[in-house]
Amino acid sequence: MAWRCSGASNAELITKMRNASLISSPRIADAMAKVDRANYVPSRRQAYQDSPQTIGYGATISAPHMHAHAAENLLPFLHSAAKVLDVGSGSGYTLAIFHHLTAGGTAKVIGIDHIQSLVDQANSNLRADRLEAQLNDGSIVNICGDGRKGLPEEAPFDAIHVGAAAPGVPQPLLDQLKAPGRVFIPVEEQNGSGEQNIYQIDKAHDGTITSQKVCGVLYVPLTDADKQWEA
Ligand code: SAH
Repeated sequence: MAWRCSGASNAELITKMRNASLISSPRIADAMAKVDRANYVPSRRQAYQDSPQTIGYGATISAPHMHAHAAENLLPFLHSAAKVLDVGSGSGYTLAIFHHLTAGGTAKVIGIDHIQSLVDQANSNLRADRLEAQLNDGSIVNICGDGRKGLPEEAPFDAIHVGAAAPGVPQPLLDQLKAPGRVFIPVEEQNGSGEQNIYQIDKAHDGTITSQKVCGVLYVPLTDADKQWEA
């Protein structure tokens, strides 16, 4: 299903992804059309290909179909009063998508990445993508820190997106999830296979946690900063 879409423009990429059923919700298509991927990748020439791209510091911007998939999965929890945490915010692309999906009310989208240079780069990408006002008024925040600890001072979160593969679901993220709320997280299976799967973790109104395997993936690890990148 991957890599079959590419466009000469962001609009063409999104149209082709819709036609290929890689995007099904019109809300996601609208949000992705507002976020020009060229502002988030080093190689603008390859910006409109449905493929991942390295962004430096051992990090990768995911393929657009993966971002669409994450947004579709979290969509029921993305409303205009939502608080969204994006762990491993990388290029800042997902912050922009989540912002457009929650804009118009009191929503707040918070990114956390453990490489300061990536945080700086993402913030400049977001400014280039016409989101400077949102960074200034705090409706989008992107900070440096260990995302495995979440951000207790901003909790609880309606939706938590994790953009790097963890060996398990970090307990602080579950603790900081609202009831109801949802986590979208790639997990590296601990059976020696190196296999990674996306899990959708739901916290119900009564606090009950359920977990569902969604699909196989290949993400960079959710790890220590010095294991990912020697500054
Ligand atoms: N959604 C991002 C994904 C970037 S790759 C995008 O598409 O641009 C994964 C990111 O997770 C990297 O930027 C990496 O620096 C970050 N990361 C890895 N381990 C982390 C940790 N423990 N805390 C915070 N960020 C982490």
